[in-house]
Amino acid sequence: MSSIIQLLPDHVANQIAAGEVVQRPASVVKELLENAIDAGASDIKLICKEAGKTLVQVIDNGKGMSVTDARLCFERHATSKIRKAEDLFDLHTKGFRGEALASIAAIAHVELKTRQDQEELGTHIIIEGSKFMAQEPSVLPKGTSFSVKNLFFNIPARRNFLKSDVVELRHIIDEFQRVALAHSNIHFTLYHNGSELFNLPQSNLRQRIVNIFSGKTNEKLVPIQESTEILSIQGFVGKPEFAKKNRGEQFFFVNDRFIKSSYLHHAVMSAYEGLLRDGLQPSYFLYLTVPTHTIDINIHPTKTEIKFDDEHALYAILRSATKHSLGQFNVAPILDFERDFNLDTPYSYQNKEAETPTIQIDSNFNPFQEEKKTATGSSFGFKPKKEAQPQWESLYVGLKENFEPEEMHFESEAVTSSLFSDHEVEKAPTSTYQIHKKYIVSPIKSGMLIIDQQRAHQRILYEQFLTNITVHQASSQQLLFPLTLYFSGNEMAILKELKPSLESTGFIFEALNLDSVVISGVPVAITESEVPIVLEQLISDLQDEIPDSSFSQMDSMAKSMARSLAVKTGTYLTEKEQENMVNSLFACKENSVSPFNKPTFITLSVEDLDKKFSI
Ligand code: ADP
Ligand code: MG
Repeated sequence: MSSIIQLLPDHVANQIAAGEVVQRPASVVKELLENAIDAGASDIKLICKEAGKTLVQVIDNGKGMSVTDARLCFERHATSKIRKAEDLFDLHTKGFRGEALASIAAIAHVELKTRQDQEELGTHIIIEGSKFMAQEPSVLPKGTSFSVKNLFFNIPARRNFLKSDVVELRHIIDEFQRVALAHSNIHFTLYHNGSELFNLPQSNLRQRIVNIFSGKTNEKLVPIQESTEILSIQGFVGKPEFAKKNRGEQFFFVNDRFIKSSYLHHAVMSAYEGLLRDGLQPSYFLYLTVPTHTIDINIHPTKTEIKFDDEHALYAILRSATKHSLGQFNVAPILDFERDFNLDTPYSYQNKEAETPTIQIDSNFNPFQEEKKTATGSSFGFKPKKEAQPQWESLYVGLKENFEPEEMHFESEAVTSSLFSDHEVEKAPTSTYQIHKKYIVSPIKSGMLIIDQQRAHQRILYEQFLTNITVHQASSQQLLFPLTLYFSGNEMAILKELKPSLESTGFIFEALNLDSVVISGVPVAITESEVPIVLEQLISDLQDEIPDSSFSQMDSMAKSMARSLAVKTGTYLTEKEQENMVNSLFACKENSVSPFNKPTFITLSVEDLDKKFSI
């Protein structure tokens, strides 16, 4: 029989290897950033276009490459970082496998420009799908620039598999932050589609964390420091009262490399025992340093999982160090009993100049005009100052025009159609009652309807926002003075992605800066004071869940805004408001459940009542 085994050509082998190293644009980001760090750079710029799908470029001021190395670096297993197997147990660099560039060059259009400090001319190389297209000497700045364009251009299946730009950008930001957190002594910048998302100057660790996660983070952190023979720990853990629902701010670094470890996570969590409310997650930024020969990094191609020689000892040390820090923090306020924390100047105000208070004058004020009732306005979240329109009505701006009783159909809900036979719903219920500031009760022909006011309102607002976002027709109200809100770079990146959708709900942005937004108009359903709450909630909801399509992003946004703005249980509703709530609910496309899939109303039939009384 003839033999059938053949050696794969290099470019095919590289494409296969690429599958392991490069899953998405963020993988390229990670490899290029790590190479720049290994090259000793003190300034690293990351430039992406369309979430890295069309361009990922990393420019560093590191040591550069010679002509020969510039060519060799694209070969598989070509590395300057290890020479023999033993070196694997004494690693001081991020890379060592020598396969990243070969893999990337196999599945993208790559352009390399590099110059060593002592050389006059640098090297410019173009390589596409593992094929060298051009190489020439060139006048270049010191350091290296890699541009990776059109990722997966020759593997359409992989390219189609990529998620939306929002999702891919989120992954890129995650990688960028991990690398930036591990190297606060390096200046990092990230640009996306021409705008600067992060600019992180060289700083100490605490400042780096604050620069990434906003100024508010500073007061939330407790330092941690421990040094033993097998492990030293540095960094910060979050105060328990600032714990959050998501695990977004939990980082372990081992010898300056970001790693994931559920075992070490457990150690930290056990130190928080009894200090956290159920389901909440503390933040932590923990930097462990261990002797290089006690770890094995080589067990995972992306190197985010590593093996420790003595995990149990690390667990115990980490747990007790965390406990110790938290303990110190818990004791501190007791020693400081003389101090009234309410009098402390917030950190960010310390260097702020005093502002002259502004006076608002209502030029339309007429003392003889009868005053409108605004009793429930504030707790309700609708602008009482919009006198022309009774406040309740803002509840269904945008819905009202569509609300034509004779057009209502309930085919989606079999229950509903049988409930309201005889066109009961077509005329609004004439009398409603609110019980326990929670339910609206309304008699109907077949019995009675009990509506959960909060869930019903969530449904109404959700459909309203979703219509606005998808149809782009919301009206906004101009603010007298533009509102400036501060956010972290991370949060700003999400806001920038959401900008078009937010604009369709009625937001008007005057500027989106590096760490702040200036808002000059808001949706009619939102009061100015609610804007920060709505946006913060929105960002945190979207951080939790990574939407996989632009529709699910809009959907999450409408849900989040509906949740923030719906009247809460415990809010008193006037009779008119109750009645409007009922009408608006039944004008909704899907009225039986809230956007979070909880029932909005139940019915009790006369027979149900009869049964109860027959005992
Ligand atoms: P590894 O990082 O595992 O060695 P790579 O494929 O990522 O493998 O890189 C191959 C080699 O190219 C590196 O060992 C290094 O010598 C060189 N190199 C890559 N990027 C840079 C850079 N930004 N500056 C200088 N040299 C670089
Ligand atoms: Mg590398």
